[in-house]
Amino acid sequence: MEQYKTSRYNMYQDFKEGYGIIFNGLSKNISILSTEKIEIIKSEKYAELENSTLKKILELGYIVSKDFDEKQIIDIRFLQECFDSRLDLTIMPTEDCNFRCKYCYEHFKKGMMNEDVENGIFLYLKKNLRKYNALSVSWFGGEPTLAINLIEKMSKGFIELCHRLKIPYSAGITTNGYLLTEKNFNRLVKSRIRHFQVTLDGLEVYHDKFKRTVDNKSTYGTVLNNLISIKKNSPFRNFDITIRTNVSVEMLKDIENITFLYNKEFGDDKRFNFYFRPVGDWGGERVKKISESVFKKDLYSLVYSKLSEVNCKLNYRMYYLELKNNIDICYASRFNSYVIGMDGTIYKCTTIFEEECNKIGRISKEGNIELDEKKIAAWTMIGIKKEAICEDCGLLGNCHNATCVADQVRGKGTYNCPHLKNSFGDILKLVATNDEYVDYRED
Ligand code: SF4
Ligand code: SF4
Repeated sequence: MEQYKTSRYNMYQDFKEGYGIIFNGLSKNISILSTEKIEIIKSEKYAELENSTLKKILELGYIVSKDFDEKQIIDIRFLQECFDSRLDLTIMPTEDCNFRCKYCYEHFKKGMMNEDVENGIFLYLKKNLRKYNALSVSWFGGEPTLAINLIEKMSKGFIELCHRLKIPYSAGITTNGYLLTEKNFNRLVKSRIRHFQVTLDGLEVYHDKFKRTVDNKSTYGTVLNNLISIKKNSPFRNFDITIRTNVSVEMLKDIENITFLYNKEFGDDKRFNFYFRPVGDWGGERVKKISESVFKKDLYSLVYSKLSEVNCKLNYRMYYLELKNNIDICYASRFNSYVIGMDGTIYKCTTIFEEECNKIGRISKEGNIELDEKKIAAWTMIGIKKEAICEDCGLLGNCHNATCVADQVRGKGTYNCPHLKNSFGDILKLVATNDEYVDYRED
């Protein structure tokens, strides 16, 4: 048994009487094992295991050969993801918005994208897309559905070009859902947008407190009804909608009611999945006015423990993917990822638009991109360099200190753990409530 060691990337969580959950950050396997077996793995007393169990545990990656350098594999996977030759474009067809959310960091100073920028993007792709192995577009804003005509027009151009060059194309959109009527939704799906993220903050009382139209009207009913109508009437099967719920401190007491409501309206439809995120300080001035509703980072896990306790299971695929993705880094740390503003400014990150370190270049109407290599290097190198604390972290294989690099680039600290870190055990429990997401179980 001396030839084996316990993986340095195992993470453990109590589950129920006599059983625990074990996750490995390299193999990504999630298992429910008896507490005795988990103790044996932790204490490396493998001789106490039957041969067939030892074989299974080796297969799941919780025990590895002594000479296996796991960190090297994780580093290589990170580099592969970081320099993957897929081109990721986050496009802001407008920077205007029909909402004024209280926790939003955007400034809404600029309006619609003009024709010069639109043509510039297309000409850039015409000249350069061959260098890449795929094109992935994320429509962002402002509120992108305000520019639905432009999205349709640009998508048509991208799809035709990709088809001609035989390059795979994919697209998604982040929207507040207010204009996502069934008709608009179907137009977007026909424009090959397959992934939708819509924010719905649980119940009317919470949603409308933070998310109101520019002229201060309620928005909850419209967004919810749009989603219900898409679910009932859309002829398409090939899309997914993630309902993102920003959980404020006061919303915690209603988590059960919210999950029951979501379950009643969407629970029987696999195209819908649910992603709850504690409201944190995401920057900007506006959030300072709602400080009593904002969670401190070390209390994020309260949200997930509450969700795993309630007696209503939703489709938590997003958390599962966060665990399972080989390296789940932010697009801002990927080399071939650009955010293009309506005026042609190129950014790395979709939050700190006003900061110089985020303005990495500009696209001209002739389709030339001028980039500041020094700034790009700063965004890319954070994950490559990582930090001593990351070396033995169970989440190195998910995060690599690159799930959110904005603070490090701005010089506010040298590492930034994702929400997954503080809330890991509770998120793991949430995922393990769904049999589909457990690779091996003994209970
Ligand atoms: S770097 Fe951080 S703040 Fe910027 S887009 Fe990525 S996750 Fe968001
Ligand atoms: S940033 Fe935090 S969660 Fe990410 S690898 Fe480093 S220590 Fe782990």
